[in-house]
Amino acid sequence: MVRSITFLEAGYTEQLEKFVNPLTGSWRKIRFPSTVALIEHSTAGMILFDTGYSPRFVEVTRYFPEKIYALVTPVVIPPEESAVGKIRKLGLRPDDVSHVVLSHFHADHIAGAADFKKAKYVYSFRELEYFKGLSRFNQVKNAFVGALLPDDFHSRSLPADEFLVPLPELSPHWKGKDLLGDGSIMLVSLPGHTLGQVGLYVRDVGGKDYLLVADAAWLTTSYQENILPHQIAQSVFYNRKAYRETLGHLHDLYCSHQSGGRLNIVTCHCDMGFSEIEGKHV
Ligand SMILES: [Zn+2]
Repeated sequence: MVRSITFLEAGYTEQLEKFVNPLTGSWRKIRFPSTVALIEHSTAGMILFDTGYSPRFVEVTRYFPEKIYALVTPVVIPPEESAVGKIRKLGLRPDDVSHVVLSHFHADHIAGAADFKKAKYVYSFRELEYFKGLSRFNQVKNAFVGALLPDDFHSRSLPADEFLVPLPELSPHWKGKDLLGDGSIMLVSLPGHTLGQVGLYVRDVGGKDYLLVADAAWLTTSYQENILPHQIAQSVFYNRKAYRETLGHLHDLYCSHQSGGRLNIVTCHCDMGFSEIEGKHV
């Protein structure tokens, strides 16, 4: 059973508003936070969905070609603002995090992964193999920086590539993978933004359900109104057609659950989204 869910902002960068919302956005820059979800489970302890930025990002992007990433995407991440810093500030122990679910391997989602020394890493093996197969320059071009992962990453890994459990309350087409065996936290597939992006469907947190969709939609309005990012921004996506389909599914889901009000769909980078979402935001 899930006791609570808390959203932590772990650093931020800036993005042109027009890139994330080409319909009504301006060419000014907006805050683009990296939000992670801290889930407290009654028996499994703490589960983290994504890890946001960390000072490790600044360290490993000091030299070329990784420096290109830091120059294109200047990041603000004081140590106390990282996920591990905020977990300590909440009076919790980072070593009590049992699982770190990585939605995908873009640097702004994995930069804090090495801070959780005892956790199992849950992610798409297929996606990591794809990124590892690229040249170092192409890895950076595709927002992957392998040096962010700890040395013992593979020995602590669990696959998230098969989704076989029906989730009829979401849609007849959606299937998931049961993370802990009790049905409370289901991994779901959200392809397109990257090859194997996964989300989390978290059931019944004080009567509310949460669908954590990472970068399948950048803004809350993106899935509410089915607005695709700017064509230039889409050029970094792995498969634009799959991205469109995934965003369309999220839009349908939002429309079908609007009247019930039980489901919260939570994106990673929306600065405005938390006024509408029920849950703690730190
Ligand atoms: Zn991403």
